[in-house]
Amino acid sequence: MKKVTEGVWFIQGQDEFIPDAHAYVIGKPDSEDLSLVDAGLMGKGPYKIDAVQRLGIDLTHIKRVIMTHTHLDHIGCLADILKAIPGAELWVHGDEAGMLEEGDERAVYGMDMFQSLCHAQYGIEPGAFKFNVDRQLEGGEVLDLGGIEWQVIHIPGHSQGSIGLYNQDNRILIPGDVVYADYAIGRFDLFGASGPKHKESLVALGELEVSILLPGHNRIMESVPPGYITETAEQWGPYLT
Ligand SMILES: [Zn+2]
Ligand SMILES: [Zn+2]
Repeated sequence: MKKVTEGVWFIQGQDEFIPDAHAYVIGKPDSEDLSLVDAGLMGKGPYKIDAVQRLGIDLTHIKRVIMTHTHLDHIGCLADILKAIPGAELWVHGDEAGMLEEGDERAVYGMDMFQSLCHAQYGIEPGAFKFNVDRQLEGGEVLDLGGIEWQVIHIPGHSQGSIGLYNQDNRILIPGDVVYADYAIGRFDLFGASGPKHKESLVALGELEVSILLPGHNRIMESVPPGYITETAEQWGPYLT
């Protein structure tokens, strides 16, 4: 848990047998218009809510949860979080929102084998991940979130509705699971994934000036070397076919 910069807080995922996604809170503290980016793994709702409160954030100031994508390690505790923050909206890219509203869980689990495993391991009932989406994002929007401007970038490949949030003023990128620190990238073999699209998304992100990279897992990067994402795209290019 830490403040990355004014109006951006980092809540580290608490990995278990399955990783727990990091969450971020964005927005100027006095705006009372904050957004939570991603939720986390099943059972991590109380931890995430507690972490938000420990940052001194009033839960009623969180107006929405924005999902970078809807994989289980990001959406597993979303229901708990929405229960704890009753007025919060849910914003998801259109390419995953429809499935979520219909209760189609293929994008949540990524593969059938994993779905069966989770149903057995966690006692999750089929249909547990059906949500009403308040706003479907498309990519290309420029959002004013609590007094800070974020561009929404559609970056499919890891999942079909993956988005990145980019703040140009402070050169901050929240790319979900599309790119991590240490030249790592998200997997590209799950439901809705595509190697070639992942490559295009990395190339597109490489065109942004990024100083702070706040991915869905592993360490965050607070001084990204120039060309880092482009170099990552080049290293992975041969595999993303
Ligand atoms: Zn993830
Ligand atoms: Zn993912």
